[in-house]
Amino acid sequence: MSASDTTRSAHLFDRVLILIKGPRDSRLTRELLLRDGLDGYVCTNMQELCSELDRGAAVALLAEECLTPETVQELAKVLEGQPAWSDFPIVVFSAAGTGVRGSGDALRALGNVIFLDRPIQVRSMLASVHAARRSRHRQYEARHAIESRDAFLAMLGHELRNPLGAIRLAALLLDGKHNEHDAPKELKVIDRQSRHLSRLVDDLLDVARVTHGKVVLHREKLNLVSVAQNAFDALEARARERRLSYDFLAPVTEIFVHGDRHRLEQVFTNLLTNAIKYTPAGGTIRVEARTDGDLAVVAVTDTGVGLAPEMRERVFDTFAQVDHSLERSEGGIGLGLALVRSVVDLHEGTVEAVSSGLGQGSSFIVRLPALSTAHMVEEHESASSAHGPSVKRVVVVEDSEDIRDLLVQLLQTSGHDVLAAENGPEGLEKILTFAPEVAFVDIGLPGFDGFELARRARASGCKARLIAVTGYGQAEDKQRAADSGFDEHMTKPVLNTDIERAMLAAEG
Ligand code: ADP
Repeated sequence: MSASDTTRSAHLFDRVLILIKGPRDSRLTRELLLRDGLDGYVCTNMQELCSELDRGAAVALLAEECLTPETVQELAKVLEGQPAWSDFPIVVFSAAGTGVRGSGDALRALGNVIFLDRPIQVRSMLASVHAARRSRHRQYEARHAIESRDAFLAMLGHELRNPLGAIRLAALLLDGKHNEHDAPKELKVIDRQSRHLSRLVDDLLDVARVTHGKVVLHREKLNLVSVAQNAFDALEARARERRLSYDFLAPVTEIFVHGDRHRLEQVFTNLLTNAIKYTPAGGTIRVEARTDGDLAVVAVTDTGVGLAPEMRERVFDTFAQVDHSLERSEGGIGLGLALVRSVVDLHEGTVEAVSSGLGQGSSFIVRLPALSTAHMVEEHESASSAHGPSVKRVVVVEDSEDIRDLLVQLLQTSGHDVLAAENGPEGLEKILTFAPEVAFVDIGLPGFDGFELARRARASGCKARLIAVTGYGQAEDKQRAADSGFDEHMTKPVLNTDIERAMLAAEG
């Protein structure tokens, strides 16, 4: 964006939109605003005002005679579509005690409305518009602060991923050197805590992606009962460890929805993790899957600490926490439910927290549109081989020494013949001369990046299975990797299970 574009868009966001009947009054109002340093923009009807508001404005100045039930509704719809930080100020010229102000309910939908009684005094009009403009500027500042925070958190998440990946791989390799009984206790601590850290970092990145609208759902027809059951099974051991009674109830075995399996499993995992976390030993946790008319409903209910009425909505906000007293290894950072709500929203569903109050337990109810015809879902179980992968030639191209060494060790432990390179040109040379069956290639490399490496390798006839390894797992990164000639895309931290899967896939 050029400097003049920036000025022009900043200028757009500072406009006062005017909708007053009669060209003479409109012009006069615009001149009065201009004399006081305010940029007025005259609209001829509500439709124009709404489309200008969408382009950007600081305040709207409306005469009550332009507000009919239809135009109020039109305006309310545009305001509803504004982002969460926006509370657009509207100044209405109204006759004292009459007119639209009497029909308060309809106007309430417009939110931030200031009434000015006629006859209008120029001084009070200007003071009101300035006050409204100031309040709008404060909203812009709040938006800026939220955007900076989110950008910082996304960056932090990416930066934490690499060292974390190296720690986890190192712990795995060390673990492999011991048998189950003589592994030092400290190793378990490193493994448990780094897994916890990984989850926090993943949540952080997920929230950043969701809030920037970067999450693309991979939707398919799927059985919600089995998705909920998977999440339930995965956490059963943890619930039993806590001496909780743990039940899954489903009167039907199949309820189909059009959804993203991985994301929906994440929803139930987060709800169950919380239920376990916030329910003292001896309590009960129950997952119930059922239909309600056209809806697929899954409720996660616990007999735990419960929620005060004012928290039932707030818990879904980013970083919202009721109680900071949980031991930190237990506590999260208030992202789990924000993610749940975002993912459910993306599925055109709802999630609601129900609780009779503190100490009374809670129920989190997810409702999603159900698919009406219940066909069997085709399960695309990846073909799993009973045998381990055969020995292969592998090249690892990675500039971080720690991660490179660990990947090499991990592959060598499985018997593969491995060469390593630390930059783009060296990686290309090794791939072309060693002719590996598989190459793991980092994207951010010195020399030239992984995309370029893949393009050049393919152009030189490389037939290896090329696997891009990056800290960025977004859809556009995956697409870019595929376009450059990669067969697969892996997001860091890479675990031994990812490597095993990739080597199995290379069996062809
Ligand atoms: P956190 O990482 O803090 O658990 P969440 O977004 O998952 O973040 O939850 C936000 C807050 O909502 C929690 O800090 C907790 O106070 C409250 N909460 C979530 N689930 C429950 C539950 N099952 N029972 C009581 N309170 C809960």
